[in-house]
Amino acid sequence: MQPSLEKLRKFFRLEHENGYGNTAVIGGLARILDYWEGEARNEMVAESLVQAVAATLGEYASLAPEGRAEALKTLWKQIQDKVPEAAVKVQAPRSSPPRAVAEASEPVSAPEGSAEEAVRAPKAARLRSQPGAGTSKRPIALNASLTVLAGVGPRNAAMLARLGLETLGDMLYYFPRRYDDYSQLKPIRDLFYGQQVTVIGTVVTAEARQMRGRARSIFEAVINDGTGGLRLTWFNQPWLVNRIKAGEAISVSGKIDQYLGRLVMTNPDWEPVEVDNLHTNRIVPIYPLTQNVTQKWLRKLIHQVVTYWAPKLTDHLPDTLLDAAELSDLGMALLQAHFPDSQEELQAARRRLAFDEIFFLQMGVLSQKRDWQSVEGRVFEVDTDWLEKRLSALPYALTNAQQRAVEAIRTDLKAGRPMNRLLQGDVGSGKTVVAAVAAAMVTAAGAQVAIMAPTSILAEQHFHTFRDLLAEEGGALSTEQIRLLVGDTPEKEKEEIRSGLAEGSIKIVIGTHAVIEEPIAFADLQLAVIDEQHRFGVEQRAALRSKGTNPHLLVMTATPIPRSLALTLYGDLDLVVMDELPPGRQPIPTHILIPQERERAYTLIRSQIEEHRQAFIIYPLVEESEKSDQLAATEEHARLQKEVFPDLKLGLLHGRMRPDEKDAVMLAFRDRQYDILVSTTVVEVGVDVPNATVMLVEGANRFGLAQLHQLRGRVGRGEAQSFCLLIPDHEDAVENERLSAMAETNDGFILAERDLQQRGPGEFLGTRQAGFASSLKMASLSDVALIEKARLQAQALFERDPDLQEPAHSLLSEALGRFWSGGKGDLS
Ligand code: ADP
Ligand code: MG
Repeated sequence: MQPSLEKLRKFFRLEHENGYGNTAVIGGLARILDYWEGEARNEMVAESLVQAVAATLGEYASLAPEGRAEALKTLWKQIQDKVPEAAVKVQAPRSSPPRAVAEASEPVSAPEGSAEEAVRAPKAARLRSQPGAGTSKRPIALNASLTVLAGVGPRNAAMLARLGLETLGDMLYYFPRRYDDYSQLKPIRDLFYGQQVTVIGTVVTAEARQMRGRARSIFEAVINDGTGGLRLTWFNQPWLVNRIKAGEAISVSGKIDQYLGRLVMTNPDWEPVEVDNLHTNRIVPIYPLTQNVTQKWLRKLIHQVVTYWAPKLTDHLPDTLLDAAELSDLGMALLQAHFPDSQEELQAARRRLAFDEIFFLQMGVLSQKRDWQSVEGRVFEVDTDWLEKRLSALPYALTNAQQRAVEAIRTDLKAGRPMNRLLQGDVGSGKTVVAAVAAAMVTAAGAQVAIMAPTSILAEQHFHTFRDLLAEEGGALSTEQIRLLVGDTPEKEKEEIRSGLAEGSIKIVIGTHAVIEEPIAFADLQLAVIDEQHRFGVEQRAALRSKGTNPHLLVMTATPIPRSLALTLYGDLDLVVMDELPPGRQPIPTHILIPQERERAYTLIRSQIEEHRQAFIIYPLVEESEKSDQLAATEEHARLQKEVFPDLKLGLLHGRMRPDEKDAVMLAFRDRQYDILVSTTVVEVGVDVPNATVMLVEGANRFGLAQLHQLRGRVGRGEAQSFCLLIPDHEDAVENERLSAMAETNDGFILAERDLQQRGPGEFLGTRQAGFASSLKMASLSDVALIEKARLQAQALFERDPDLQEPAHSLLSEALGRFWSGGKGDLS
């Protein structure tokens, strides 16, 4: 007898000895199913037996003791009847038992009906009574492992796990990456430039080409659908040679482009055409795949799961809320999100699912906010005369936006609870001075302030700004009371700073991570400021805060996101936006040059330097790892100095340099000892050199939109006209969407929106929000109206039942728990 059956027998005997109290296994007999089923299948136990065991044990907890005795007896009898046959199977050649065939050939071609079996009665019965589900109103166990599906054994389960699919719930929420709408196919003859379409055609020619003298390859195909031909081009996907062959029908999806007057598609998404789809005339989901998982197999599996289980789901949102927000029911939404009946149904489904995500997000954020609002914060009353005097001592008048920010902070500081304020302002809007004024408010009352910046260059820059603004005029603070602490600060000085902070003689410390990493104690830390907050993790923010007792917190970010979104994502923080640049700033014209036009960039740089301006030239990386088509900053610095600008002074800055070396170079650049700074992206964050007017980015296609926007923000910080030049690695990358977006607008909000559309929220939102990004599968962060609706509903519900204790909210409470589990709970 197979070991798995042997195991069962032991458990059954123990259970009998214990009087059928369901105590033979901790947590109940059904628990063993978690692993038993896999073992049994591996040992070729007949599928019907596996199912019978699963069904019986699944129900076991809900039976009375007599019923239990009966059930185990019946089951054991069934096993005895089958075992000889099962034993024979084990010895048979591996390919002969049906199970083995199924496992070996799936999922390339799953046997018909195997997935269907998954949803038949015995399994269904058992799923309903999965461990833990017995007491819940939830009729299906979303946590049930996928191996409960027939057709999915351990091997397929492992494959699906690579797609992140481990439970039924995962499957229901595994959404298509796109849909092919066979009801709206466009004939090739009717296509026009710029259209985003799916086209079907037969491959007429297909061939791979090498690009002139380079390692890169091109694969080209022409398809024809009887009305016309369309040329398709893929870069660097040489394996397509074996996939796309003349005579086959494929569907391609992408944007119609133009090349030499002909319509083409570049790097389209493609699928072999499944004949069934053609005739269904419907919208077919296309799922993200991994090796060895075919679209057809996965789609079929998901179809079975979704059509059977989605309608049985009880909605976690209360009816009142569904009505108020005009949302479709969850089961319907899941069904339509996978297999939509029409574009309208699909949109409604996506709306509903997106609503859930934002709603959950907001509920989490609100409870965070409640937590921090429940503690007390020191009151700082700021006298109006005092403030006016401080402001008039500044070298410039504050913009209206800056004044509003200062006012908001002033109000927060006297509220009696810790300030938790997010200051959001596009690059160059002048956040630093606002932070300095806030620091002055707090130090005026004798308390201490800590400012944390992501790089030592930036910390040092702030250090100088703070000293200039606070220690020079009127002697509010002495220079000794403002100190810089970075990893590189000499040990002796660190010691001095540590004791100065501990006894309270130092009032402001500005630094990098060092501020939280060093064993520093403050006498009376009352304000923590975090600059470029998206560069920091939540733990770091918490660590800084923990250096005081409920200190006020000011976080600053250049991340330009729409207000409603900011309210949602940073809902635990109070938001103030600075939507105004200091006077005299001009938009920065941005040009995309092909590599052959590099000379033009050099000419511009030279002419600017003749006018006593300075320039940045940025390269993607320092090292030689990707030497093939990357220009290393170090190498290029040497070349530029020798061949292009022999008469000019060129500085070099890269990540491999020691922090003190970096600072020295940066300061020298700021003091105009260099005309040009050749650098990697270490200058990206916050560096302020108002005299620099040209930003040339090499390998520009390699950067993200947020990074490019930050880089461009390094120039145009004074009143002089500045320029941004973007040169991609190679000519073909000129059509890069990010680069065109950069050329089109200087507005960080618009760029953020684009980036969200193109890549999801990850990049613009930074560390903290990267977690959210993965949990927001449906929500388009550009759908401001929906976000606003979800936010308001969450707020209303939170006010009524913050801990979701009402019985009507128990399912919601569970769903919320699921949403926030899985490493996404990274709120501060
Ligand atoms: P960011 O918001 O990107 O951190 P900074 O605080 O570095 O911006 O400020 C950018 C530049 O604008 C600095 O050179 C600063 O001195 C200058 N600046 C800030 N506020 C004003 C203002 N109200 N008027 C004129 N220049 C200002
Ligand atoms: Mg800044």
